[in-house]
Amino acid sequence: MFDTLSDRLSATFKSLRGKGRLSEADIDATAREIRIALLEADVALPVVRAFIKQVKERAGGAEVSQALNPAQQVIKIVNEELIGILGGETRRLRFAKQPPTVIMLAGLQGSGKTTLAGKLGRWLKSQGHTPLLVACDLQRPNAVNQLTVVAERAEVGVYAPEPGNGVGDPVKVAKDSVEHARAKQYDIVIVDTAGRLGIDQELMQQAADIRDAVSPDEILFVVDAMIGQDAVNTAEAFRDGVGFDGVVLSKLDGDARGGAALSVAHVTGRQIMFASNGEQLDDFDAFHPDRMASRILGMGDVLTLIEKAEQTFSRQEAEKMAAKLASAKGKDFTLDDFLAQMEQVRKMGSISKLLGMLPGMAQVRDQIQNVDEREVDRTAAIIKSMTPVERQDPTIINGSRRARIARGSGVEVGAVKNLVERFFEARKMMSKMAQGGMPGMPGLPGM
Ligand code: GDP
Repeated sequence: MFDTLSDRLSATFKSLRGKGRLSEADIDATAREIRIALLEADVALPVVRAFIKQVKERAGGAEVSQALNPAQQVIKIVNEELIGILGGETRRLRFAKQPPTVIMLAGLQGSGKTTLAGKLGRWLKSQGHTPLLVACDLQRPNAVNQLTVVAERAEVGVYAPEPGNGVGDPVKVAKDSVEHARAKQYDIVIVDTAGRLGIDQELMQQAADIRDAVSPDEILFVVDAMIGQDAVNTAEAFRDGVGFDGVVLSKLDGDARGGAALSVAHVTGRQIMFASNGEQLDDFDAFHPDRMASRILGMGDVLTLIEKAEQTFSRQEAEKMAAKLASAKGKDFTLDDFLAQMEQVRKMGSISKLLGMLPGMAQVRDQIQNVDEREVDRTAAIIKSMTPVERQDPTIINGSRRARIARGSGVEVGAVKNLVERFFEARKMMSKMAQGGMPGMPGLPGM
């Protein structure tokens, strides 16, 4: 979603490369370019102003670092200011001392509340909670049904008025659901409320009534990142009409410019807590301002990648792999391990989404998006046509072995050669990483 912003910012930083020190004119020019980049990305004007003021002050001020060159210094400042705009520290959900914790979702119709209820439910369940989804959207036809389906898919409980019970009273449903949760030992209640296409008084009143009836521990405002500047206006209306404690950005997978959504935290003074980036239940992450900032700056989101990896790989397996990679030049890491790792990476989600999280990848994103998942199948076929000995020690793969492997897997001989070379390269890089830090990270990529 923030591709254009990323590209523009990295072009700005690139133009600073090689400068020994920054003159006032350099700083002005840089500030102007960053300003244009932010405005083009649809970041709200007051936010842009505050941002630029800070960057200029800090870049021109006494903050001179011996360790960083001027371009790196500017990136550091922009990074820190971006984190600030996005809300600073990561904020986590607050749980009630006495269960159930009540989480209420508010937002316009179509913002993604019902979908979010399922995602949040599943996420909380994976952390050992027992969430109950509550259908208080009795306005939209089929909303109750939709929530029931979502709850089933997320494998969490659902509380909904009996079908055929008329229009129903959402305030009563909300109240009853908390009783129900207490009786049935659900520790979290997630209340899905009705939205309208636009902001209206009745909608606000209903949400406020539900709020008063169940005293939520958290009210989350869900906003569609694709709606542009309306995101900011809607957020302000909900803050004043119902009040909320945290923001959830949805549809971050869209190709809109997204800057408006990034402005919501700054404008409302409420933290962004979660980000939704797809229609599937797993397309959901806790929001970390620092990670989002580094993703926007093309420094990649290594931490999220690592967390996803941790969820997929068992710790034991990961430790085994790490030990192999840490061996001299990674020589214990074989083609079998390479294959196992590739299959696991595939489990982690689509390759292009993942690679986008790696540092320095912004520049090659276009190529990445063309990554062919069938390539993974082809690679697997080649490795599977090798003998166990060849997989253990690919250095023995000579011309005749290559020809046999190519025949076995139905590819050209060159493809086998290519794969083996890629394997050695990947092993070298991974073993470097295993032995100390991410390559390219300390110096900031592209610098
Ligand atoms: P509600 O009216 O606020 O409950 O919104 P819904 O949860 O029904 O979502 C409205 C539409 O947006 C549905 O078609 C969802 O599948 C879709 N949707 C929700 N979240 C996302 C997301 O993060 N990405 C994308 N691409 N679509 C989403």
